[in-house]
Amino acid sequence: MIVIMKPGATEENVTHVVDLVRDFGLTDHVIRGTDRTVVACIGDKRGVDKGAIENAPMVERIVPILAPYKMASREVIHEKTAIAIGPNNFPLGGKKVGIIAGPCAVENRDNLLRTAEIVRDAGCIGLRAGAFKPRTSPYSFQGLGEKGLEILAEAREKTGLAIITEVIGLEQIEVVEQYADVLQIGARNMQHYPLLEAVGSCKKPVLLKRGMSARLDEFLLAAEYIINGGNPNVILCERGIRTFEEYVRNTLPLASVAELNDKSHLPVMVDPSHGTGHAHLVPAMCRASIAAGADGLLIECHIDPEHALSDGAQSITPAALAETTKALKAIANAIGRDL
Ligand code: PEP
Ligand code: MN
Repeated sequence: MIVIMKPGATEENVTHVVDLVRDFGLTDHVIRGTDRTVVACIGDKRGVDKGAIENAPMVERIVPILAPYKMASREVIHEKTAIAIGPNNFPLGGKKVGIIAGPCAVENRDNLLRTAEIVRDAGCIGLRAGAFKPRTSPYSFQGLGEKGLEILAEAREKTGLAIITEVIGLEQIEVVEQYADVLQIGARNMQHYPLLEAVGSCKKPVLLKRGMSARLDEFLLAAEYIINGGNPNVILCERGIRTFEEYVRNTLPLASVAELNDKSHLPVMVDPSHGTGHAHLVPAMCRASIAAGADGLLIECHIDPEHALSDGAQSITPAALAETTKALKAIANAIGRDL
């Protein structure tokens, strides 16, 4: 439920409500708006004396939160959230669209540093590459591990790009958080609840990918796990879902961008690379994603896609990246945004 304070409620009034809420065993999140403060109360409401809260000084009313996800919902936070990422604090979710690109995996130092420059020169704000890779086959390249993280940190040093990289297990959180600006939780781990709770304790933002068979409510509840764990900085990423369709690796449902923007205040990104599985489809889906209201894109780009150690078929070339990002500016401008 949400406790709406009257305009002019003092700090003391709000603290009194917070104390009451805690006495009833609920977690409080105080949200200060321009004209009034609300206290979102999350937890088991059995045993809560609503009347006591309702009658507290300067409380206007109590409204229930109908969505199953609470802190991720627009019911609690009406305004879109912008999350500062990287060394330059780029506000993802703000007016400017943020493009993040990079190879699926960190393969070696030279390739990554070259790619980082290409990504920066194409106007991207972040470099994404996996150091720990969740591969379908145990015989596929599994990533360079901590060595890969060191190379990513060097790329940030040289380019100023934000570094986004995946954490696939609980035991890696600490080391990944040490190097990365944003922690990615991959599609396969969207329902790994202990991992979600654990990144809830991290200080760095989390980029949460939609599970390949997850409904949107399940996706938002996964985000809720992270927020409830203490980390409000969650970026949602649509990356396509499994369907009967075979001409693509995954089906990319862009209506989800509009729906997520409607239901949640969290920034929404799209990954058209995993969303299609084919490099030739990526530029068109980038354009469509921005038109649909995405706050950012996650694009796989490789200097030599044919020889990539993972996901080469869906990785666009540096030339295609530069051309695509250029074309996106006009689309962003057409819907009142910028790039
Ligand atoms: C990736 O981003 O390279 C990846 C493994 O993506 P997903 O979790 O969406 O499959
Ligand atoms: Mn990949």
